[in-house]
Amino acid sequence: MPFLNGKLLLDHAYRNGYGIGAFSAHNAETVQAIIEAAEEEQSPVMIQVGQKVIQTLGMDPMKLLIDWYGRNTTVPITNHLDHSSDFQQTMKAIQLGFQSVMFDGSSLSFVENTALTKKVVAIARALNIGSEGEIGKIGGTEDDITVHEKDALITTTEEAVSFVQETDVDYLAVSIGTAHGLYKAEPKIRFERLQDITEAVRRPIVLHGGSGVPDEQIEKAISLGVAKINVDTELRQSFTYGIQKVFEENQQEFVLANSLGTGKTYMKEKVKEKINLFGSQNKAADVLQNYSIPACRL
Ligand SMILES: [Zn+2]
Repeated sequence: MPFLNGKLLLDHAYRNGYGIGAFSAHNAETVQAIIEAAEEEQSPVMIQVGQKVIQTLGMDPMKLLIDWYGRNTTVPITNHLDHSSDFQQTMKAIQLGFQSVMFDGSSLSFVENTALTKKVVAIARALNIGSEGEIGKIGGTEDDITVHEKDALITTTEEAVSFVQETDVDYLAVSIGTAHGLYKAEPKIRFERLQDITEAVRRPIVLHGGSGVPDEQIEKAISLGVAKINVDTELRQSFTYGIQKVFEENQQEFVLANSLGTGKTYMKEKVKEKINLFGSQNKAADVLQNYSIPACRL
């Protein structure tokens, strides 16, 4: 069960020109879908625990679920806390043993965001945990937090550089034209800005709102330094379609294992599709070898 510091996964992806899927989990079946897809594709993977599921299931059970279903895998897995705007909550994730945390201070002033992110980075790094920070505001709705399009600010290269210099965050989430949730019109990634930022900060960039972005834009973003792609909405859609299909065939299907199981099967296929789009398939062994980690460590 190679649970690895997220920085190791993302540095490897960044240096080798592919992307790591950071897939959101919501219950046992979604955790299984992600882990089984990663195992079958021999892909390193990040599993995200977001704010919504923390409110409903709780952070501790999610961590235990991921640990349990990931315990016998041969691929590197990173438990990641997504969009925490609460310093105490971020510390709790660190204490629970997450291998990666995102402190999201993007709603704060630059000075406050920088100061808190810097603290998180220092603590996480001392414990061999990767850290993600966000500069700029990513549009859309995620976990009940809505950033209206007019408020979604494209990250400037200058602010990205200052933020990284001040915080030394391991990987950086930027706002470059994607949004959380469903898109009303086709998104257009600002590739020039992405390239400028990557060249200036020289570390993995995180793309939020990865669902619904056309494949060729994702591929280009990866070639320009994006190493972590967050995917949630499309996975939830697949899971839901699977369940709907069961009820279309039999409205009296009350065996939850059948409906949830079909949801899982559909989501697993979507995770595999994303892994192949991001180019992380069959990279697991190389990541482990690179860091001299035995393929299976129990
Ligand atoms: Zn996000």
